[in-house]
Amino acid sequence: MALEAPTTSSFYSPWPDRLRHSAIVLLAAAFALTVVVVLGELSLLRASAIFVCIAAAALVPWRLHNAVASREDVRNVNPVETAAVSAVVAGMPDPAVLLDRAGRVLHLNAAAAQLAPALRKNELAQFALRSPEIISALREAIATSETRRATYLDHVPVDRWLELVVTPVPVPTLFGGTDKCMLMTFHDQTPLRRVEEMRADFVANASHELRTPLAALSGFIDTLQGPAKDDAKARERFLGIMHAQATRMARLIDDLLSLSRVELSAHVRPDTMVDIVPIIRQVVDGLEPLARERQVTVDTDLPETQVVIAGDREELLRLFENLVENALKYGASGGKIEVSLTLALSGDDTPEARVIVRDFGPGIAPEHLPRLTERFYRVDVGDSRAQGGTGLGLSLVKHIVNRHRGRLLIESVLKKGATFTACFPQAKVPPGL
Ligand code: ADP
Repeated sequence: MALEAPTTSSFYSPWPDRLRHSAIVLLAAAFALTVVVVLGELSLLRASAIFVCIAAAALVPWRLHNAVASREDVRNVNPVETAAVSAVVAGMPDPAVLLDRAGRVLHLNAAAAQLAPALRKNELAQFALRSPEIISALREAIATSETRRATYLDHVPVDRWLELVVTPVPVPTLFGGTDKCMLMTFHDQTPLRRVEEMRADFVANASHELRTPLAALSGFIDTLQGPAKDDAKARERFLGIMHAQATRMARLIDDLLSLSRVELSAHVRPDTMVDIVPIIRQVVDGLEPLARERQVTVDTDLPETQVVIAGDREELLRLFENLVENALKYGASGGKIEVSLTLALSGDDTPEARVIVRDFGPGIAPEHLPRLTERFYRVDVGDSRAQGGTGLGLSLVKHIVNRHRGRLLIESVLKKGATFTACFPQAKVPPGL
């Protein structure tokens, strides 16, 4: 099952190297002794005796090799069992395994042992890894002396994608030469894969969301140009629907652009000092017509004094608008919502401002709570669309809160309503407002 049966000559250091070293030592000794004899400092007999001793010392590596090579368990002897090589493999941050040219494990670090517990020293790696893709990558790397890559899939405790790189490396042996070994390293590609999947999902969702109103629009245009051409009543009704669909598309594009803007600046914390009390008031006032339409009372409990945070005014307007609008739309059956602002200490004793939007509607089932801030995630797609929702509101809220280095908490009890709390660290510097 070995990839390539190691021969004794390829397994150990090359003979010509040792031969050259010994020959140089012997030649130097012979020359020095000849000079001493010619100068009359030493008798020929003594010089010969000294030469024999030097020759014996120069031949020690040969004898050592022969002694090891003749042992029956020669295959279990690790020719690159040096502390340095072992330390390098152990110190690699990613899982790493050093194999001999037969594919046997010479060294492996703790990360590799944890990733693939079946890998054992002195055993063939392909027995532990088994994947045909990995075995052929190893085989090719050995045959061509070139780097080869393969994918390693791990399913426990969660799905992970790792790129396995097999790099041929010459490793110094005990006997003074080098041996061609294979260094296998594993690089976790899971975050990249997830981002790629999210990107693909996002494009698919966004296109789908745009295509639906677009299809409705072009359908009504056809009807108005054809069968309903001279029907004034139908025209009025269709134009109303077309207007609603166009508004929906505009809103979706608006949300998409806001989301991408916030994402682009996610790493830059806003540095303008803003008082959030008037921002919340402006949002509540602006949504009064919606509250009236839904017959919902809005109770506000805001401090009289300024509450200053480092923030982006436009983004904060958007954030509170989304939370209050959701409460009015989805929690309307509760008949009232509460919007309040309190000051408190966070877990690490940082003073923070907490904006709480609470409704008394149907609430949200616990299984939906962790996913609410995902893009396009809705508890009830039909309900969201009927309310003119895009499924991006809470995702935007979360991104804005994150950019402000805050926290978003969502709590809900079914049939009793939902509470959304946006917490922001309070600014230390008093505002120049
Ligand atoms: P949408 O544009 O659909 O409102 P959001 O991201 O703002 O998107 O909200 C995602 C989903 O969360 C909504 O579709 C709705 O199902 C649910 N939701 C949000 N706020 C509430 C709330 N106050 N009460 C009940 N469900 C809510």
